Amino acid sequence: MPYKVHAMQNLIELNKNDLEAFVVEDLKLPRFRSEQLWQWLWQKRVRTIDDMTNLSKPLREQLKGMAEIVWPEIAKVQQSKDGTIKFLLRLADGKLVETVLIPMQDRYSQCLSTQVGCAMGCTFCNTGLLGFERNLTYGEIMGQILVGRQYLEDQGMNPLKNLVFMGMGEPLLNLDTLLRVLDDLPCERGLSLSWRRSMVSTVGFPDKLRILGEREVALPAISLHAPTQELRAKIMPKAAKVHLNDLMAALKAYPMRPRERITFEYLLLKDVNDSLEHADQLARLIDRKKGKINLIAYNPIEGMPYGAPDRDKVEAFEKRLWDHGLTAFIRRSMGSDIKAACGQLKAEDVQ
Ligand code: SF4
Repeated sequence: MPYKVHAMQNLIELNKNDLEAFVVEDLKLPRFRSEQLWQWLWQKRVRTIDDMTNLSKPLREQLKGMAEIVWPEIAKVQQSKDGTIKFLLRLADGKLVETVLIPMQDRYSQCLSTQVGCAMGCTFCNTGLLGFERNLTYGEIMGQILVGRQYLEDQGMNPLKNLVFMGMGEPLLNLDTLLRVLDDLPCERGLSLSWRRSMVSTVGFPDKLRILGEREVALPAISLHAPTQELRAKIMPKAAKVHLNDLMAALKAYPMRPRERITFEYLLLKDVNDSLEHADQLARLIDRKKGKINLIAYNPIEGMPYGAPDRDKVEAFEKRLWDHGLTAFIRRSMGSDIKAACGQLKAEDVQ
C-alpha cells in the first residue's frame, strides 16, 4: 500500500518504513526521529503526542498539527471463568471486531482479527455468517496488540508473548497488510514479539501460502476440519474450491526448519467428521513428520446445524491418530462461556 499522508495521520497506521518516510519527507526531520517516534508508539505505548517527552515542545506542536494517535476503542471487555478475556473493539468507522487474550502457563497468547466479517462462510462459524465487510488496516491489527498488552499491564497480569491470527476473518485474504504487520512484530524497539511465536490460521490458498513461506515470517495453521475433499466441500464449500490435493501439495513444499511442523486444526462436529473412519482418513492425509493436529470439540452455536461431539468419541479419535503415529492433542476450548472460543466470534454490539 503506498504511503500517504492524510489530513490527520494516525501514527499507528504507519509501518516502520512509512513512519520513516513521514518523518523525513513530511516533517523534514532527521531519520533518528522516526526511531524515537516508533519507540514511543510501540514500546512505550503512548496515547498522545504530548507524552513523547524527548521531543522538543515545538516539534511536538508541529507533529500535533499533522498527526494523532488513535487506538481501536474498547467497547466491551468480558472475562471467562477460565481466564480468557475477550475485547469488543470499535474501529474509526464504527465497525466492530473482537480480539481474545488466552491465558497460557506464564504468559498470554492473543488471538487477532484480520477482517471485519469473513468471506469464506464456513458453515460452522459465527464470523462466516456475517459475510465479508472489509479488511482491517495495519493500525487496526497492530492496535489490537496495543490494547491487549496495555490491558494486561494495567491489570498486573502475565505478559503477552504469543500471537495467533485466528480471530475474525481469513488472514491470507488480507495478505499484504498481514505481511507488513508480521515484518514489524520482532522490532526490538517496538513490540519485540518473535515471529516464531506467531501462527497464521488459514483455510489454505496455495499461492498465498507460497508467499508466506518465502518470507519466513510465520507458520501456518491450516483450518482443515475434514479429511476428504467431499466432506470439506460440504462443511467449508468456499474453502474447498482449493482441492485438498492441491492444498496438501502446497504444504509439502512449505519451507520449515528442523523440528517445525504445520498445525492442522480439526473441529470435531458431532456425527459429521468425528468417527474412527474419519481419523483413519486424516492419518492417511497428513505426513506425521511434518504435521501435528489440534482437535477441538465444537462449541454449539445457536441456529447452526451442528452439535458437540461426545467426549468419549473425541478421546477415541485422538487415540486413533496416535495409533497411526501422528501427534494430536485435544485443545481445551477456552472462553466458550463468553463466546470467545473457536468459531464463536461475532462482534455483537454492546448490550
Ligand atoms: Fe472465515 Fe475462519 Fe470462520 Fe471460515 S472459520 S468463516 S475462514 S473466520
